[in-house]
Amino acid sequence: MKDLLRRSQYLFSETQPEALKPSKSEVAFVGRSNVGKSSLLNALCEHKGLADVSKMPGRTRLINVYAPAHLRWLIDLPGYGFAMGSDELRKRWAAMIEQYLTSRPSLRAVILMFDSNVGPMPMDHQMREWLTAHELPYVLVGNKIDQVPPAKREAHLTRIAKALHVEVSDIRWVSATHGAGLKELRKEVVELLNRDQYAEIP
Ligand code: GDP
Repeated sequence: MKDLLRRSQYLFSETQPEALKPSKSEVAFVGRSNVGKSSLLNALCEHKGLADVSKMPGRTRLINVYAPAHLRWLIDLPGYGFAMGSDELRKRWAAMIEQYLTSRPSLRAVILMFDSNVGPMPMDHQMREWLTAHELPYVLVGNKIDQVPPAKREAHLTRIAKALHVEVSDIRWVSATHGAGLKELRKEVVELLNRDQYAEIP
């Protein structure tokens, strides 16, 4: 099972969350544009170019679906932030994401990515607050940890954790391009995908 993500294939892209068929389980990835979402998907699946589909013209604002196994999905949600353009686009983005996030009983967790070096931005905090308000489980992932100088790391990560009101160890610190933390995160994602809807009910 540990190699499950390696079998991931691009399935399809969708603009209408309500058109998505039920899955057995899914894990969604969300974060600001440029946070390294495609790089992380590629790295977790050990499949260079897998998530490049999300960069194709016309696809950057779509929900892209990858399947490591039948009806077990990785969901690449469009990035938020500087690439969003007008208010109108932002509203459409928010409506689509919110519609997706509130309509998937099989959603096991949201991987909420931020840049470790920059720290969480206002939109990252907003997204987290929104997830909390909707009682949706999420995993905080600080990407680009390789860019934080080792000498400053402890103080820097402590500051970030404090701003998020969590412990440093509650955040998964990873580097999509340099490999740090990927093995552990891969394991966590596989466990989430393998968890069936009613498995926790005795
Ligand atoms: P996306 O817009 O969130 O899908 O971001 P990309 O995966 O395209 O990454 C944006 C840029 O950040 C690219 O130049 C990546 O090579 C770079 N990048 C992604 N992850 C990391 C990382 O962990 N460390 C460093 N140093 N660069 C990264």
